[in-house]
Amino acid sequence: PALADLQAQATAAPEHHDAFWMPFTANRQFKKSPRLLASAEGMYYRSTDGREILDGTAGLWCVNAGHGHPHIVQAIQKQAATLDYAPTFQMGHPLPFVLAERLAKLAPDPLKHVFYTNSGSESVDTALKIALAYHRVRGEGQRTRLIGREKGYHGVGFGGISVGGMVNNRKFFGPMLPGVDHLPHTLDIARNGFSRGLPAHGAELANELERLVALHDASTIAAVIIEPVSGSAGVVLPPEGYLRRIREICDKHGILLIFDEVITGFGRVGEAFAAQRFGVVPDLITTAKGLSNGAVPMGAVFATSAIHDAFMHGPEGAIELFHGYTYSGHPLACAAALATLDVYEGEGLFQRAIELGPYWEQAIHALKDLPNVVDIRNFGLVGAVELAARPEGAGLRGYEVFNRAFFEQNLMVRCTGDVIALSPPLILNKEHIDRIFDRLAATIRATA
Ligand code: PLP
Repeated sequence: PALADLQAQATAAPEHHDAFWMPFTANRQFKKSPRLLASAEGMYYRSTDGREILDGTAGLWCVNAGHGHPHIVQAIQKQAATLDYAPTFQMGHPLPFVLAERLAKLAPDPLKHVFYTNSGSESVDTALKIALAYHRVRGEGQRTRLIGREKGYHGVGFGGISVGGMVNNRKFFGPMLPGVDHLPHTLDIARNGFSRGLPAHGAELANELERLVALHDASTIAAVIIEPVSGSAGVVLPPEGYLRRIREICDKHGILLIFDEVITGFGRVGEAFAAQRFGVVPDLITTAKGLSNGAVPMGAVFATSAIHDAFMHGPEGAIELFHGYTYSGHPLACAAALATLDVYEGEGLFQRAIELGPYWEQAIHALKDLPNVVDIRNFGLVGAVELAARPEGAGLRGYEVFNRAFFEQNLMVRCTGDVIALSPPLILNKEHIDRIFDRLAATIRATA
């Protein structure tokens, strides 16, 4: 059947909605009043009922180059017709090599090696496994402890939820990985509320890592994993100086530092990576999302030469790392990523968050006096408006704003609890910014 017929079927007949068990969704609520997208171009989605929806979230933080970019579309189409699939276990095809070289040039020195995955969750599990194995191949196999943070989101694999710090993502799933500890989060509205850009207070929270070292001993700790800017927990920013301090403590104790850049990678906060924007270089970087503009699933882990080279000492015929995915370096994903990098470079998109940051900041902070707004946070092209919870329960007001924005204002935002999060495609201009915040302001007023 034609695509239009399938879309009509899905739109018109709610009985067709039952089979799809939707991820991270209130299934029963959604299926009573579905929010369905049919197509997309540039800054806009089109809903199945024919409305143009302004994309305030780049899909799920991934469509940094905007929707349906012809260069990316054509690259995927051409690749599908040329080489649909080729394994990368003891075999290869040219694209992942070409792509890895280009990615290595973008990454900060000395993160010059790339391991491919298919998602952010897989990138996180891969980075944690590389960290553990790295210590082991160097003869420090007792370094098995992993340190995450409260409010951290590192995807949904068992590794990611173990180091993650969002309670609902953890509490249903048993004991998870043993030997994990958590640093405190850095959200402090009492001291930092309505900060513009990075909050001034809280760098001292990095010293909590020294406390964990004193408790467990550095010789048991493999790695610390941190989102430089967290998205999923409602946009939590690093206080000025915090990341640098974490790096210093890791260096002092031989602990690897992993930056989870699944949302910050590929221009979200300016530069290719947040590591470069903040001037703090980790040992491993996890990425996904913007890597392939969300067009074909793909993730990648960047590792320093020191980590990579530590694995290269055994017999030449021995597999160095017993890890990988059937679709690591998938031809379609590589083609999408190569074309995406062309667009990022050709259109200067890694600079957009720096160029537009001040305008974005001004526009989001203009929402300060709207009803129920308890905090506003921004950095690069990331923003969050935190609303007071309704007395009847946490998250109800946030959900209502999200739902009304979609149906009444033709605006797509994200809500996590009562935080409205924004992360538009990097191709946006000032008019789009005005439109996003006019529509969001109208929605927040209507939801009072
Ligand atoms: N890590 C971070 C920081 C993320 O924000 C996300 C997704 O939002 C993930 C990991 C998981 O990515 P995926 O959903 O592709 O597995």
